[in-house]
Amino acid sequence: MNLNDPNLELVGDVARALVALDAVKDLAAFHLPYPAEAQRALDRLVLRTLRDRAAPPASVPGMVTFCQERPVVDWPLTLPSGLFAPGSRFVDEEYGYLTELCFEAATALGTAFPRESPVDTMLDDLAKRCQARQDAAAYSTFRRMLAESPVLDNEAVSTINFELPLGLLDDVIWNVYRKADERWADRGLYRACGGCSHLAIPLGADEWCCESDKCGEDVVESGGSWTDDEGPLHHLDRWHRQFVSRQAQAVLRLAGRLEAVGAKAEPWPRFGTYDLQILLSHGRTWGIRMVDWGNAALAGVTERPIDEPSTVDRVYRVVPGERLLADPGYLSTFRAFGPADGVEVVTDEEVLRTTEAALVPGGAGA
Ligand SMILES: [Zn+2]
Repeated sequence: MNLNDPNLELVGDVARALVALDAVKDLAAFHLPYPAEAQRALDRLVLRTLRDRAAPPASVPGMVTFCQERPVVDWPLTLPSGLFAPGSRFVDEEYGYLTELCFEAATALGTAFPRESPVDTMLDDLAKRCQARQDAAAYSTFRRMLAESPVLDNEAVSTINFELPLGLLDDVIWNVYRKADERWADRGLYRACGGCSHLAIPLGADEWCCESDKCGEDVVESGGSWTDDEGPLHHLDRWHRQFVSRQAQAVLRLAGRLEAVGAKAEPWPRFGTYDLQILLSHGRTWGIRMVDWGNAALAGVTERPIDEPSTVDRVYRVVPGERLLADPGYLSTFRAFGPADGVEVVTDEEVLRTTEAALVPGGAGA
């Protein structure tokens, strides 16, 4: 796939335009001037559409509707076959929120440095600061917090201030957590998704949904709730919800399963060189990098090479099994687009089985 293909650049521009519009807070009420990214993307989309003698969206709101009504594969563009799943959209067809695919495309397509997203920059900065203090515990505690505390009420804020060993990372914390605005409340009530514990989107009439593809509508029912009276709520911004927190939840789930079969699993060792380190007998260690994007090709495009494979005995990139349910060709697509650093790509089930075998004295993985 040629990332400099103008069609792919345009798809990335439209995705970034939608993200910029979403930051305006109320898509229904936004007014001129639109964010510059949105106007530019619209202009390019109109030109491209007219060239194909198709009907272009007439305005920025029209572009949003266009992205809600049309799957990406049905846009008047020539896109690499198989890159986008049939039916996948940037704006949820039913409820109008931006999909995970939109943020993945905004990160991966039409940018000069797809491996240097805003999220990567934040994590790099965090690692550097913790390294300078020689404080690996602060690094892993911070990463765990983003997974386990996606929503902070007053009590959670006090815990962070007084109990967690985060030292002087306050500014990093408040760069990634935002006050939850009124878009997340239904008549003063906020609810968490029972699947990922992030705030659920209110749909009215006491119906809620989760923005994550991994959470069905049913799991929203089992989450916690807060009312306006309990003081302001803070939650992670969308980039960190999607690319850091939910990915980290997959890391912790795998760590729990590895511990359950008798392995020792350490999340985010060495300031995040790996997402997980598996410690076996005789000092053997394996490093795990978790790959948890919906679109396998875009995941590959943005995946960074692993710099220090020599510090562990084996390295795996691990994809949660549920990603393969949605896309059975996930592993081969990721291999085709990912870095050529020789690191094996396997599912969580496979790494679990291999670890179990390695725990048996003289076993297959020993
Ligand atoms: Zn969820």
